[in-house]
Amino acid sequence: MNNSIKPTIILGGGFVGLFTALHLSQQNYPAPVILIDRQERFVFKPLLYDYLTEEMNDSQVNPLYEKLLEGSGVEFIRDTVQKIDLDKKRVELANNGSIAYKYLVLALGSQTGYFGIEGAKEHTLPFRTRENAIALKNHLQNCLKRSLSIEDFQERQQLLTVIIVGAGATGVELAGTLADVLPQWYIKQGGNFEQIRLILINRGSQILSSASERLRHAAQTALQQLPVPVELEMDASVTAVRPQQVEFERNGQKQTLAAATIVWTTGTTVNPVIKSLPLADGYRDKKGRLKVLSSLQLIDRPEIFAGGDCAVSWYESLPPTAQAAYQQGAAIAQNLVSLSAERVPDIARVQIRGTTLKLGLNEAAADLFDRLLVTGKSAHLLRQGRYLTTLPTPVRDFKAATQWLSEEVLESI
Ligand SMILES: Cc1cc2nc3c(=O)[nH]c(=O)nc-3n(C[C@H](O)[C@H](O)[C@H](O)COP(=O)(O)OP(=O)(O)OC[C@H]3O[C@@H](n4cnc5c(N)ncnc54)[C@H](O)[C@@H]3O)c2cc1C
Repeated sequence: MNNSIKPTIILGGGFVGLFTALHLSQQNYPAPVILIDRQERFVFKPLLYDYLTEEMNDSQVNPLYEKLLEGSGVEFIRDTVQKIDLDKKRVELANNGSIAYKYLVLALGSQTGYFGIEGAKEHTLPFRTRENAIALKNHLQNCLKRSLSIEDFQERQQLLTVIIVGAGATGVELAGTLADVLPQWYIKQGGNFEQIRLILINRGSQILSSASERLRHAAQTALQQLPVPVELEMDASVTAVRPQQVEFERNGQKQTLAAATIVWTTGTTVNPVIKSLPLADGYRDKKGRLKVLSSLQLIDRPEIFAGGDCAVSWYESLPPTAQAAYQQGAAIAQNLVSLSAERVPDIARVQIRGTTLKLGLNEAAADLFDRLLVTGKSAHLLRQGRYLTTLPTPVRDFKAATQWLSEEVLESI
């Protein structure tokens, strides 16, 4: 790249990266901006359940970067980041050589972690990306279809059993969604859904350990009232996963459960590119995430910003959520603008507005500002909100895209 002004490069087009790019574009940032992601589509992870059930489509949940950034002046490069040379200030890509940067934004997120449990990676399905959602939907529909031609009770039961490991927000929302949609899919194929089993396995003693007591209670109640009541296996530490079988330990006793579908929703680990950065231990937390100052700059590297799931702030403890990440993206953009005008970067302020959970096709629960609990259809409407009717589809106009992301969707996650 022969550009005389070195660009600001954003690595990762998730909630931090995309929002940094969109905000820079809105603020007439004077330097070239390049956004790099290995995928061609942004993934709105909080809506992946709605994508799996086909309540929402690709242009709503996974819009193309090309469309989102149209007219923004931001250059998008689809490529995989392999390495960052911090001293030479260059990013190495798998297919586009290396690019020099003046400022760098690290927004590479995290990836699924398996705690070293035997067979967990090999024999479970993850649920973090568009491709994961498509693979899970196809797998489940295939299991339902195959079960119809199986005479043997046990074999059929195995095909109709789904185990979800992890009862954090992802596990609970996925369980709630599947408990509602699987019966619908099965009835359509001519099956009797009463044989479907959904089991949520969790190491801790209760679901949603970091949620408020009332949200937990609302979710637990909702999970029992769905067409397939979700079975909870709490205090159960998974010790191994084999093809179509989960082994777990409770009170020193080993037990096994058989299922044709095992989904892994617990555990995250640091992105390998972040892990490979030659930084001393003091610059990372125990999980390997990058410690950042209140301005979201790396310690001793003022030209590098980091946010979202790959970073952790010295200043405040934030949950690894989209809610925090998109606000950090806006703050990083603001601070890059300040640096370009030779002003001092500001403290990044993040406001957590509450938690919303999808608990079925038309069911949800929302704990707003830790004060107000909304459940059922109202919470569902709050979550999905008005964007279903006002969504710009396809997302052609940059302003409309920004508006969609910030006003219609993010206000309700
Ligand atoms: C199923 C699910 C549901 C969720 N629901 C909610 C919710 O309801 N509310 C909420 O607030 N949060 C939710 N979260 C959490 C939220 O999605 C994350 O905290 C958020 O996405 C973090 O943003 P980020 O920008 O740090 O990373 P991400 O959004 O993960 O983005 C990272 C980007 O980096 C790219 N990338 C990674 N490595 C490379 C590489 N080597 N080269 C090029 N590109 C790379 C990836 O393709 C990705 O686009 C959910 C998460 C999941 C998995």
